Amino acid sequence: MHRWSKLFIPTLREAPADAEVASHKFLIRAGYIRQLGAGIYNYLFLGQRSLNKIIGIVREEMDQIGQEFFLPAILPKELWIESGRWSGMGDNMFRLKDRKGADLCLGMTHEEVMTSIARSELRSYKQLPQIWYQIQTKFRDEPRPKSGLLRVRQFTMKDSYSFDIDAAGLDKSFDLHDAVYRKIFTRCGLKFVAVEADSGAMGGSQSQEFMVYTDAGEDLIASCPVCDYAANLEKATSRLEPVAEVEPTGDGNPELVHTPDCAAIASVAEFFKISPASDIKCVAYMGLKRGQSGKPDTWHGVASFLRGDHQVNETKLMGAVGAADLRTMLPEELELFFKGPAGYLGPVGLKHNEKPLEEGLTVVVDQSLEGRKNLVAGANKSDYHLRNVIPGRDFTWTLMADIRSVNEGEACPTDNCGGKLVVGKAVEVGHIFKLGYKYSESMGARVLDLNGKQVTPIMGSYGIGIERILTAAIEQSNDENGFWLPASIAPFTVVVTVTNVSDAALRDAGEKLAEELAATGLDVLLDDRNERAGVKFKDADLVGIPYRINVGKKVASGFIELVSRDKATSIDVALADIVAQVKQRVAEEALLTAVED
Ligand SMILES: [Zn+2]
Repeated sequence: MHRWSKLFIPTLREAPADAEVASHKFLIRAGYIRQLGAGIYNYLFLGQRSLNKIIGIVREEMDQIGQEFFLPAILPKELWIESGRWSGMGDNMFRLKDRKGADLCLGMTHEEVMTSIARSELRSYKQLPQIWYQIQTKFRDEPRPKSGLLRVRQFTMKDSYSFDIDAAGLDKSFDLHDAVYRKIFTRCGLKFVAVEADSGAMGGSQSQEFMVYTDAGEDLIASCPVCDYAANLEKATSRLEPVAEVEPTGDGNPELVHTPDCAAIASVAEFFKISPASDIKCVAYMGLKRGQSGKPDTWHGVASFLRGDHQVNETKLMGAVGAADLRTMLPEELELFFKGPAGYLGPVGLKHNEKPLEEGLTVVVDQSLEGRKNLVAGANKSDYHLRNVIPGRDFTWTLMADIRSVNEGEACPTDNCGGKLVVGKAVEVGHIFKLGYKYSESMGARVLDLNGKQVTPIMGSYGIGIERILTAAIEQSNDENGFWLPASIAPFTVVVTVTNVSDAALRDAGEKLAEELAATGLDVLLDDRNERAGVKFKDADLVGIPYRINVGKKVASGFIELVSRDKATSIDVALADIVAQVKQRVAEEALLTAVED
């Protein structure tokens, strides 16, 4: 049992001026954390206590599938040269030199170190599979630290790495992590979705993120409330409703129409009396092609065409053409490739290359234009559009691909589902990723297979952001007075508030009750401070403890008040029943989360 009067819990009435998201405001106000520098924080008593509970759950579940290691946070440059990431990590990596001038870095992730262990120690398929994990401090020189613990430069991660003899083995390690992650997030009381994610240009084959919907998040995800479809917006697709095509005019061939002041999609639609879905929008970029074998990087024109009511998803577009980066075309580049101004760009008459990012212009057409007819498009001439444009007949392309972002309310892509997609901001709490052979190959890890032949083990890498779990839990459960955490990760399960400590009867009853509760294994905080009841209630509401017991005047008649922070409901309970009541509530809460699992 802990006594509030002896603890350091520096609660504040006001949040820091720069705090925008709920978790940032409340972590500071509840005395969980204090900022030391940009993106670096001190964790005080309550914060550390909650994080330790999260770590306890993560460790307990990870021990079911893996073995815990603890690797250094300070890492020699040589390993990162071998994997190619010494330069690849760029400015995100904290770098330093030792007294002899040797280069070191602060670890952001540990693929290299784990692979170096595998390389030196694993010899045979008989030693596989292996799953190694650690819970450790990581560093990342975030360009714009903000949002309290959501975007920081020092944080705690559970990271694990699997080594398998073949792809089937990796599938199994991946699935084991998937199952364990669901258990962990469920036990932590998070309402999460598992989304299919973009696996990037790193050669990974499958990637899944665990996300919690909250406006504080910086990622956009689309999910279906009917089936279990969920995907990062960079990957999400939807089923489009058929569009009623416009009737052709004249002989049905492209016709030049004078459209003064119709640079915007809306004005084009109004001018032609069509839906924006029958207009072809052009978004013109320059795409960066990484130089191969020592050649310099080069920029190439990329023209993307899609429906007027759709938005380009730049990650999808980059993936489709293989660009390392995109930037908007400058006016002189528009002139070079289109011979026309912004607002009047169109696909008809453009010359395009055969392969993306080669000499000339790469023309990418979104899949939703396939089979469409009698569309309107810019004529690459100021104040002119073309109508009766038919893709394939009137223009061709370098490639056709899915390059659009899905919109809220579009139909779920799952066959026969019929659900409408929900698009919202979310925060990532975990990520599981099939790495493949990238590190084991480049760093030379080899084992002997069943036939005595040398083979490269296949790897997976898996992360959980420990502080992210705490912040996501706060984001999903707060009101104007503070927040409430699930009992499993709250610093205390119950606070016993003695409304007036100068009343000996109340004080004694509170003491006795707190001891009884603690004796049953509950984490109990006794608020024995010599403060007004109102001050104590306000503090209790603020600091994330799910249950409060008020020991007040009714004690004389054998009753106390049990308050549930989440629903802000309170009931009178007989003193004799209170221990059983609290235990039952906590058990029900745990059961509830288990059922959702
Ligand atoms: Zn669905």
